[in-house]
Parts: sequence; structure tokens; C-alpha cells
Amino acid sequence: MADTRSAVTLDLRGLQVLLDVLGRMGFTVLGPVVRDGAVVPGRLGSVEDLPRGVGDVQEPGSYRLRQRDDEALFGYAADAVSWKSVLFPSRELVWEGRRTEEGFEVDAGKRPGRLGDQPYAILGIRSCDLHALAIHDRVLRDRTYADEPYTARRKDAFLVTVDCSDPSGTCFCVSMGTGPRAESGYDLALTELLDGRHTFVARAGTERGAVVLDRLPSQPVEPPEVREADEVTARARRRMGRTMDTTDIRTLLYDNAEHTRWDDVASRCLSCGNCTMVCPTCFCTSTEDHTSLSGDETEHWRIWDSCFNTDFSFMHGGAVRSSPKSRYRQWMTHKLASWIDQFGTSGCVGCGRCLTWCPVGIDITEEVAAIRADQPSPENDGRR
Ligand code: SF4
Ligand code: SF4
Repeated sequence: MADTRSAVTLDLRGLQVLLDVLGRMGFTVLGPVVRDGAVVPGRLGSVEDLPRGVGDVQEPGSYRLRQRDDEALFGYAADAVSWKSVLFPSRELVWEGRRTEEGFEVDAGKRPGRLGDQPYAILGIRSCDLHALAIHDRVLRDRTYADEPYTARRKDAFLVTVDCSDPSGTCFCVSMGTGPRAESGYDLALTELLDGRHTFVARAGTERGAVVLDRLPSQPVEPPEVREADEVTARARRRMGRTMDTTDIRTLLYDNAEHTRWDDVASRCLSCGNCTMVCPTCFCTSTEDHTSLSGDETEHWRIWDSCFNTDFSFMHGGAVRSSPKSRYRQWMTHKLASWIDQFGTSGCVGCGRCLTWCPVGIDITEEVAAIRADQPSPENDGRR
């Protein structure tokens, strides 16, 4: 097990006290809830709001919940909707303006989730999504011009990760080195144990996490519980739905910009943009202005955009990427190759959402494998 120095065990009452303590500290407590037939981020008032006994079945182009034969509260894979939707919402009011006798005035102070709002405590975030958050930190917070609302929400957010125990058929975090157990980037980490008593092995990742842990009713962790927690992770690793060979992937994709596989995938891709909306690392946005009919008031909104939209690459004279082929190639090559040049990491954390929510079941792991299978290798004397 990772750092067990400060590990303790909590029972269900301890988990409820955790929610209560975070609430008393002024956090809006969020976590996984079942809504509209999916596990999604929602408001938590009590442990009873968590998806007890709920699992999920995910395959390319398919998602459904299932009843588990136990009382697991975190027995699903990653939430259907990532935490990007909370920390970097799909629509955000940037400023609003109104005409005045002297000219006009601009108010940038009413944006939801701005500094001064109640900070979020997020319970149940998975390791893959912690890695996605670290990517967003680099892109949205740590560059020359920080995204102010994201930075404010992120700075104050208290993160309680729960190690993944039952990955879905579309998960491949092991291939991407992002899971299933969180190693950093959290305030508290929990591993849910269901053999015998329903308990959680809890470890602190930050000082404020340790302070919160000290306030909970807990027991010292025993060696059998450490072994059981390790087995939860080992089992999850064995049950990954998919793998992706990332060896020299950057070179592989750069060398294959004209591969025939791009035509193949383009014949299936609908350019709907679902993959970019559900992806926890995609961050592209556009802006919209809404002006009242009288022309006296206006609002400037930031909205998620997608590189699958034709207008996304529109410059003077037309769109640079006018075909679905060029758009899919751009998306996948950015995720897995040029992202490394740009930000120093892969843009994919292996959460599997783009496979699950693609209406035609396009599988990024399969697309990489198809290109890789066609490369010269010693087995075929360097021929393709
Ligand atoms: S590319 Fe797909 S699998 Fe990778 S992080 Fe984005 S949604 Fe998840
Ligand atoms: S890969 Fe799938 S989800 Fe993404 S744009 Fe194409 S059809 Fe839509």
C-alpha cells in the first residue's frame, strides 16, 4: 500500500462524520449520486445520498447501471460526467454590461463559482480524474494568463479520492499510469473494504487532510486491512476493460498522419463532439454574446467548444479542418502526441468516457492499435 503512516479505518458512521465536518468547515459537499440512470456529480447531505449497491456496465457506445450484490457505496467506475463539469463548467458568465446615461458599465462580479462562493469538497473522485485535474491545473491555472474562476474553485476545493475497485469495460488507466489507486493530488484517500465489516482505509495526502482525519471517529489500521486494501487495487488492475500500448506513441502518430486508418475512422465518426464534452482533460472554449432586443443589456458567456465542430478551426477564408477525417486525426493526435510537446504529459488519462459516450462506439485504444499493427517490425522483416 502507498503511504500507510497516517492510515486509519473509518466505518460508515465515520464517513458520515466526514461529510458533517466538511459541511461545518464551510464546504459545499459534492459526490457521486444516481441521476437519470447514471452516476454523476451531485450534492451530498448524507451517506444515504451515495449510490449504495450500484455498479455500472460500460462498453463502447453503451452505459447502464446494474444492481450489485453488495452494499458498496463506490462500486461503479468513474462518474459518467467528470468533475470538469463542476470546476470548469460548460457555460460560464464572463461579464455583463448595460447601457447607462454616461455610456455603459460592465459587471464581472456576478459569475457563478467566483471567489467568495462556498468552496467545494468533492468526495469520490477517482485517480484518473485527479490526473485530469492536474492537467487542467497546468493548462488553466499555471500559465501566464490563469483562468480566474477555475483557479479559485480549484484552490479551495477539498478532494477526497476513493480508490477504484470495479473498473468498467472501457477503462484503461493502468496503461496510462493514472490509476486505479491515487498516489497524490488529494487531501484524503479512501479504500472501501466490503469483506466482513463495511469500512474504509483512510489516508491523508495533505496537512489539512490530516487535520480533518483527526476529527473523525476512527481505528488504527490493522495489517489485514492493509492487505485487503492492496487486494482491492490489485483486483481492479486485473479487471481493466482495455489496454493501450503507449510505447513511442508520439512518434507513432506523427509518422502516420497519412495512414489509411484515418479514412476508416472518419467513415464511422459523426463529428458529434461527445468525446470532447465528456473528456475530463479537454478544455477548449468559445464565447457567446447575448444582447437584449433593446440593445441596453448584454452578457458575455464562455462555453465549451469542440475540435469536432467545423467552425472550431475557422480562420479568414474558411475552416482549416473541414473533413471529419482531419478533425478526428487532430483530436487523437493532440490527445496522445502533441499534448506531450505542449504540456509535458499525455492528454489522455484512460478514463474511458470517450468510448462509452461515443454514439457509434469508436474506441481510441482500438484506433491506436490499428495504426500500430501496421508498422514495420522485426517479425515481418521491416515490411508493413
Ligand atoms: S481521451 Fe477518452 S479515455 Fe482519454 S481522458 Fe479523454 S475521455 Fe478519457
Ligand atoms: S469519435 Fe464518436 S463521440 Fe467523438 S465526434 Fe466522432 S462519433 Fe462523436
